[in-house]
Parts: sequence; structure tokens; C-alpha cells
Amino acid sequence: MTLETNGTPKEIGPYEIERRIGAGGMGTVYLGRHKESGKQAAVKVLPSSLAREPGFVERFTREIESLRKLKNPHVVELYEDGVSDETYYYAMEYVEGETVTDRIRREKRLPWEDVIQYAIQICSALKAAHNAGIIHRDLKPSNLLVATDGMLKLTDFGVAQLFATNKLTATGGIIGTAEYMSPEQAQGKRTNKQSDLYSLGAVMYTMICGRPPFVGKTTLDLVQKHRYGQFDKPSRYVPDIPQWLEDIVCKLLSKKPEDRFPDAYVLSLRLQEVLKRIERAGSEETAAGLPIEDEPEPAEDSEVSLMRTTATAGARGSSTAGGPGQGTLMRDLMKMEIERANQETVLPSIFNNTWFLVGCLVFLIIGGILWFQDPADSTDMDSLTAGNSESIRLLELARHYQRLGDVIRAEKTLEALLVLIKDDEQYKGEHRRAKLHLERLRKDRAERLETFLKPLLERAQQLLQTEDEEKREAAQAQAHQILTSITTLYRGDRLATDYVKQAEAMMNHPEEK
Ligand code: ADP
Repeated sequence: MTLETNGTPKEIGPYEIERRIGAGGMGTVYLGRHKESGKQAAVKVLPSSLAREPGFVERFTREIESLRKLKNPHVVELYEDGVSDETYYYAMEYVEGETVTDRIRREKRLPWEDVIQYAIQICSALKAAHNAGIIHRDLKPSNLLVATDGMLKLTDFGVAQLFATNKLTATGGIIGTAEYMSPEQAQGKRTNKQSDLYSLGAVMYTMICGRPPFVGKTTLDLVQKHRYGQFDKPSRYVPDIPQWLEDIVCKLLSKKPEDRFPDAYVLSLRLQEVLKRIERAGSEETAAGLPIEDEPEPAEDSEVSLMRTTATAGARGSSTAGGPGQGTLMRDLMKMEIERANQETVLPSIFNNTWFLVGCLVFLIIGGILWFQDPADSTDMDSLTAGNSESIRLLELARHYQRLGDVIRAEKTLEALLVLIKDDEQYKGEHRRAKLHLERLRKDRAERLETFLKPLLERAQQLLQTEDEEKREAAQAQAHQILTSITTLYRGDRLATDYVKQAEAMMNHPEEK
């Protein structure tokens, strides 16, 4: 292999090398042109140390053979492999464009419509591979190439496995990153198609949030987090993320493979269905508000109740290219659902059907149960079923504050809303929901305050009662700090009145026991 002065080879096998494209954990990639056919290719040269690994050549040949059979528009096609001057290489379809890593670096977070589009394309690639018995094992943003026409292609199929000898993984860090690695992989267990789905979840998370679900200083740290850690929900970083998208990502990131989606095909159906709804709703952007009666709340995981509303003005998602405004979007989703339900029930003859009547009865009973359910346990879709958009907006605003962790603001919003809609019959539904929601918020917070503040007050009391003369002064100063902090933080908070009073009393009369 003749090298240019800059270290780039002039040719590799039958390819004339035009330039170096990039390098990763598993070798260097060059842009080449086939000397006879003139066809462009990305030629990946593997580190020479690999060829000396016992059994590598056999595995390389075997793996490449099965990869070559893999044909899918979203899989980078493998052309050929070979040895040139003792260097192993393989040539693949050249994808002009950039990697998803580049896009994330530039934009930080990708619009969620794009994330769904990408995920659907990755599902197509995974489905083809899994059907052929090939597991990717190293799905990550740098293995996702975005062509200039926007099409996504997955590369490096099965390559991780190819190099996954104990020695190489232990010493060479061949598998470059553990950020997208499934818990079972992290444990050194056998991987299966669900492992790729976990990695896809981690990739989707990164595209949505601008950071992977887990970050760690060392590979070991990351591996432990994938096995035992709990990631922050995507809504922590992107508060207006549609609930259904968050649910999908969280399901994919389940620790147990069986808790994820059964396969890439099922996942892609789910994603496509959702995307269709969004697109249809988007095309009806101008549709008027829905004259819908206050209905029983739908179940949490209903495929229909997918959207999480938000009052974040100009937030992501609503502002992305072609993305409909979320309020309208949800109204339209609801409208479509109702239209669909109507289409299914218009035949008058069914009213004569006993089963239909029995069904109605069951529906009424379930509806009744759901009606009395705590709204904090239901989806946000429930609040869409009522009439006035301003009262709904305020309800949603309260939920938004709650999600952000600003519970006091959420309570204040609900309290104010309750005052405003108290006497008006038309807001009966919202009033009931706001009241129940407020009660639940207060109850939760009262419990939290008790577990947090009670021990602190007890600790302050103990410090104030220190009998050791030498230590007394320092102990009293410490107690004072605790008590002042409590009053500073909680004065004016009605739920904490008792604790604040106690703290003040202890400060004023420290000698009392
Ligand atoms: P990594 O180990 O980070 O996945 P690779 O060694 O696979 O990196 O690739 C290095 C870089 O080469 C990639 O970041 C990408 O920019 C580029 N690249 C890889 N494969 C292709 C391809 N088929 N077509 C175009 N560019 C590619």
C-alpha cells in the first residue's frame, strides 16, 4: 500500500483513494473510486493489530459474508472486503452527507418529528438485519449517516461483534462507547434484537435531549448506570415532548429486554401511526376548536391519548418546520379519534343488538370509574375534552409547573383558577379536575414536607439542648443556621406554616425543652 506524505494511502485493493473521510474506534475511512467500474466507495481500513488476533480472519470472512447479504435502503451496502498489503479493509456504499453525531453537535437537540422519522428508518434497517439473524450491537449516532437528501443509513452492522474478543475489548477499547449499550451487553450477556432496541432508545433519547440517558467518567461507571441507574425522563430537558414519544423512549430503555417492544417492526408501526396522526392533524391546522362534552378520562396508555400539552410559548416541537401548534394538534387528534369512533358506530341496526347494549352498559360502568379517578393519574388528554381553552390552558400550565418541579407555582395556579371558575356551571368539569389535582398536589407536598422538615427540626432541637459547655456555642450556631434556613425557605408557604412557627419559636426561646 503506497502512502501519500500525509499518511493517506494512494490505493487500497482495487480502489484509488481520493481522500480520508474520518476515523473511528474501528479504523480509518477513506473515499475511494473503483479503478475499473469508477464507482465511489467508502473504504474502511482496520487497525493492523487486529489481523494478528487469533481467529480474527475467520470471523471477519464469516461476518462479512452474512453482512453482504443484507440489502435495505437504510443499511449502508457492503461491496467487498479484502486484504491489501496485510491490511484488512472493506468497501461500502459511500454516503455523502453527515452523521447524526454531527447534526446533534450542530443543533444540540433535534425536532421530535425528525427523531420519529429517523427512528422509523432505523427500524426498517433493524428489521431487515434481525430477520437475517444479524444484530447490530453498536447502534450509536456516529453509525447513522444522513445523506444529503435526508435519508438515513445505518452502518457498521455486526462489526462490534467482529472485534469483540476479550483481549481487544479489554485493552484496545475497540467498542468505543458504552453510552448506547444495553444492560445485558454491559453485563457481558448474549445480545439479541432487543439489545439493538435499547440502543435505539438511547439514540432517540440523545437526539431529543441533546445528551445520552447516562453519562459517566469511565466506561465502568457507564456500564453500571446502564445496569442499575435511572435516567432523567426526556421531559426534564424538553418539557413539551409529546407524552407518547417519551413513553416509547422510556419503554425502549427498560432494563429487562422483555419489557421493551417485541421487535423493530412493532415499534415502527407504533411510530408510523403516531406520525400519520400528527401529519393529518397538521394538515387540518386551521380546524376550529372541538365542541366536545366533558368526557370520562381515557386510560393512561391509550394509543390515542398520546399528546402531552404544554403552555410553553414558542417551545420546541410547536416551532419546528411544518410542525403544527400543539394546542391545535391535540384538538385535531381528538377530533380524528371522535370521527373515527363515529364512523364505527353510525349503523342504526347495531342499536338493536343485545351485545351492543351490553357493551354500552360496560362502557358506562368503566366510564363511571374513570370519572372518579384522580386526574393526576390520568393522561393530559382528559383536559382536552372540556370547552374553554383558557381554563384548559391554565390547568395545563399547572401541570407544566408540576413537571418542572415548581409545585408551589402549580398550586398557586390551580388555586387562582378555582377562584375564577368557581360559580360558573360551564366550567364544572375543569373545576372538579383542578380541585382534585390541587388536593393531590397538597397531599403529596405535605408528606414531603413532613419527611424533610420534621427530622431537621428535631436535629435543631437536639443541638439546642447540648449540655456539653464546650460544644454548646457551636451547636447553638448550627441549630440557628438550620432554623433560619427553614424560615427563609418556607415563610409564606401555607402548608409549611406549622414548621415555620416551630422554627421561629425555637429561635426565640432556645432554652425551652
Ligand atoms: P465510528 O467508529 O465513530 O463509528 P467509523 O470508523 O465508522 O467511525 O467512521 C468514521 C467516519 O467516517 C464517520 O464519522 C463518518 O463521517 C465517515 N463514514 C463512515 N462510513 C461512511 C460511509 N459509508 N460513507 C460516508 N462516510 C462514512
